[in-house]
Amino acid sequence: MIDYGPLIDRWQQDVLLAPWAERLHTQIASGLAVERYGDLPRWLEALAALPDITATTRRLDSARVGADRQPELDEAQTSALRDTLQRLHPWRKGPFDLFGVHIDTEWRSDWKWERLLPGLDDLNGRRVLDVGCGSGYHCWRMAGAGAREVIGIDPTPLFVVQYWALQKYLQHPGVWVLPLGIQHMPANLQAFDSVFSMGVLYHRRSPMDHLQELRDCLRPGGQLILETLVIDGPLGATLVPEGRYARMGNVWFLPSPDTLMSWLRKLKFRDVALVDVSITTVEEQRQTEWMRFQSLADFLDPEDATRTIEGYPAPMRAVVTARAP
Ligand code: SAH
Repeated sequence: MIDYGPLIDRWQQDVLLAPWAERLHTQIASGLAVERYGDLPRWLEALAALPDITATTRRLDSARVGADRQPELDEAQTSALRDTLQRLHPWRKGPFDLFGVHIDTEWRSDWKWERLLPGLDDLNGRRVLDVGCGSGYHCWRMAGAGAREVIGIDPTPLFVVQYWALQKYLQHPGVWVLPLGIQHMPANLQAFDSVFSMGVLYHRRSPMDHLQELRDCLRPGGQLILETLVIDGPLGATLVPEGRYARMGNVWFLPSPDTLMSWLRKLKFRDVALVDVSITTVEEQRQTEWMRFQSLADFLDPEDATRTIEGYPAPMRAVVTARAP
């Protein structure tokens, strides 16, 4: 079911990626090691239990990524599919729709996609990396926008299994999600035409190192698309929350947009541009039947939605693009 063989075979013939292909098998085995992730066998069982359905149409370029079949599934088939997909709870990034089963994820990730589109280089024919891709929602959208090869990396095995659940039905040879973190990328690869890092920078303790790692994944002149939490404020302003931020424990640097752009210029990125700044709403991130834990509404001050429960400015996100030197 989970088989990275075709990707590794292909990369062995690729000048830029052959050295990585050698190590990929070991890295994947470690990223999906049942000894490390106690829940993984349960998720793999759910993946194996997904019904075999052959799609007649696939949707990569619409808000609800997914597949359809003619004739449509009957009620029993639909509920078997829904129940099996539910065993991969929590579904955070989406939405997806598989044969009429709407996976209404915690996030409307399609909104983020719409916000970044105006700043995005044409993806046609491109090789793309999506760092911290979650379930791979945006990876499918990138393929839908014409990318030739999309590689998502994410160290959370549940999200990788969710990608494989979609791949079972979408059967796309150009979209892959690997169980890796940015720290597992080979140094100075310079192989990707576009690199996305969305919702990751603030989780990194060393943001400058993260930006440099992203730069080193890009070929010269390639485009970085960076999306992260920001604060209002002038050049130089940065918030480093002392405790949690919106209940998240691993939040480090929240720069102002001007500060973020100056970090990129410091690292010799060119054409640094601010594409969008948006407040994250409780319509965009919320509890659903596919993500039954607490969500943004529970992480904001009940008296003042402009503050997190800890008293920090409520989540606001920026999309910035830049070009590798
Ligand atoms: N890019 C998606 C998901 C953001 S959530 C979006 O914007 O909607 C942040 C993701 O980063 C999580 O899926 C988490 O597993 C992943 N992540 C955490 N540490 C990481 C690391 N070291 N390298 C790459 N991804 C990481």
